[in-house]
Amino acid sequence: MLDWFFPDHCVLCRKQGAAVCRGCLTGLPPAPDLAPPPGFAHFASLLSYEGDTRQLISAIKFDRKRRAIDLPGRVLAKLVDWDADCVTWAPTSLGHKRKRGFDQAEVLARIVARELGLPCVQLVERSSDSGHQTGRNRAQRMEGVEFQSKSVSLKNKRLGSVMLIDDIRTTGATLCAAGDAVLGAGATAISGLTLAVTP
Ligand SMILES: [Zn+2]
Repeated sequence: MLDWFFPDHCVLCRKQGAAVCRGCLTGLPPAPDLAPPPGFAHFASLLSYEGDTRQLISAIKFDRKRRAIDLPGRVLAKLVDWDADCVTWAPTSLGHKRKRGFDQAEVLARIVARELGLPCVQLVERSSDSGHQTGRNRAQRMEGVEFQSKSVSLKNKRLGSVMLIDDIRTTGATLCAAGDAVLGAGATAISGLTLAVTP
């Protein structure tokens, strides 16, 4: 809340104004062109997770600079050149969310959804948060993350094509695990959008 009483400074150059300034964002290394993860119809990412990108994401996650997600989120939304019916995200663990006060993937998803004029719905949750540990494959075990469809009331709702948001794509195993759960929730197709990818 105190954020509202003090002006933001760019987390990278400390200039007063936005939580991350447009000049710094434009100077970050761009994401390489990557094929969509298996099962995904489309994929796009804005940044390569190296150099100052790491500093930006670390400021968001560990210094709780929630508002440093805003501009990158709006720029990220401009990369979407395919149709989707709704937006969801791969949730961070409840422990991390409590510590930070927010889930950076959710904040990112809500910004992207707003920019694209799409509904944003939580469709999946961490299995570890609900106490269920089933159906892990090797890649998921390696990344240690697993998801399940959230029991949302989808009566009379057609999810259609769902855009799944996460902060970083590493091996793609997390996206795939969350993507499976999104399909399990009733999506007919899935696409992925992350703020950064590991080079
Ligand atoms: Zn700056």
